[in-house]
Amino acid sequence: MSARTTDAADHGPEEDGNAPLGGVHIKYLHHCPRQLWLYSRGYRPEQRSDLVAFGEVIDDTTFTRRRDIDLGEAKIDWVTTGAVVHETKSSRVPSPAHAAQVRHYCLLLERRGITVRGGTIHYPLIRRTTDVPWDATARAEAEDSEVQARGVIAAPEAPARLTRGNCRGCSYLDYCWGD
Ligand code: SF4
Repeated sequence: MSARTTDAADHGPEEDGNAPLGGVHIKYLHHCPRQLWLYSRGYRPEQRSDLVAFGEVIDDTTFTRRRDIDLGEAKIDWVTTGAVVHETKSSRVPSPAHAAQVRHYCLLLERRGITVRGGTIHYPLIRRTTDVPWDATARAEAEDSEVQARGVIAAPEAPARLTRGNCRGCSYLDYCWGD
């Protein structure tokens, strides 16, 4: 199967290098830098992905009393006093990318002057929650993720694909592998 060549000429321009980064940017960075690069150039197969649509249904029906917190560049599922950031995932497998996304939200809130205590990721399909600590180490990780994400977005060419086995379930599969 031929590899899809991917360079900037195939896509729109990258996002403004100083534009605020949302949670999706950080999640994609940690899942696959190529996904972040494509996303930053406007490629959005996730809008028609059944997996993503399923995730939105889970998200909409699991916690009916929650309120989204819209920061502009990022939409947080909800925040409880403390402040604790809550994020719901339809995945059955907790991922470092999910924790990185929550740390990014903690960073964004802190920059707005909010005292942040940490985060909790909810996985309703496996009835599990994972706590995400917020301390100096977590803050440094979040800041480092931002730097990494901006580096990926600014690259003239797309990063290489992950190995095929690591692409399972990715909404960009069609594009990267021509399936
Ligand atoms: S299909 Fe694989 S290489 Fe392409 S964006 Fe998804 S994880 Fe990355």
